[in-house]
Amino acid sequence: MRFDVLTLFPEIFSGYLSQSLLKLAIDRGLVRVDLHNIRDWAKGKHRPVDDRPFGGGPGMVLKPEPVVECVEAVQAMGAGGEPGPASPGRLILLTPQGRRFDQRVAEELAVSDRLLLLCGRYEGFDQRIYDLLSPEELSVGDFVLNGGEVAAMTIIDAVVRLLPGVLGDENSSIEDSFSRGNRLLEHAQYTRPREYRGLAVPEVLLGGNHPDIADWRQRDSLDRTRARRQDLLELGDDDRRPDPPQD
Ligand code: SAM
Repeated sequence: MRFDVLTLFPEIFSGYLSQSLLKLAIDRGLVRVDLHNIRDWAKGKHRPVDDRPFGGGPGMVLKPEPVVECVEAVQAMGAGGEPGPASPGRLILLTPQGRRFDQRVAEELAVSDRLLLLCGRYEGFDQRIYDLLSPEELSVGDFVLNGGEVAAMTIIDAVVRLLPGVLGDENSSIEDSFSRGNRLLEHAQYTRPREYRGLAVPEVLLGGNHPDIADWRQRDSLDRTRARRQDLLELGDDDRRPDPPQD
């Protein structure tokens, strides 16, 4: 799967892309992440990417020309910036005003072959960027970040762990909280030692009786969902039922 991130601050991604699961997925050729600096499409001596808002008010607004031209150029690029052929991919603009990103949206995005993630800064985007590009708009939550980069990393992180071959055990992303296993919170987890500071691992997890372990986990998952996230239990049966396997 290919991600193209369009940003004014590509350096923000360097540590993230060179560590842990992301690095492994990239090294194995399961994922590629191409970074594009929107400023490269700005014209003039000072390459301005933002300007003051018409009508007055605080802050600066991202200008339409560099953003629109950057998106159009990246959509036409093949992998690694070479000329096409390329799938134009799904264009996602990060904004606190967008559809709320969650595990279901991550699952929906994970079947795409290419995602373009457009990161804003300052007061956000000139309205004509939305009007001309008709992007999908996604928000990572009801709060305001300084820029879309952290939101883009959140989306990449959640989507990449769903791709076949990225996690050691495919089941772990099905059984995670909110995931298509049952859409509830995951049960408690324990590892060695069997006892720590007087707290023992529940006996049932030590006995190797798999039906009993499955029962215990299902009950724990329900209890903690009831205690912490009643709203998840109020979803309809269809919302909680595992989705059919994808072809
Ligand atoms: N003035 C904008 C508003 O009130 O809707 C907020 C602009 S914010 C300071 C700058 C950029 O950060 C946005 O253009 C967007 O790309 C990103 N951003 C901020 N909060 C976000 C969120 N919750 N989800 C996704 N992106 C966000």
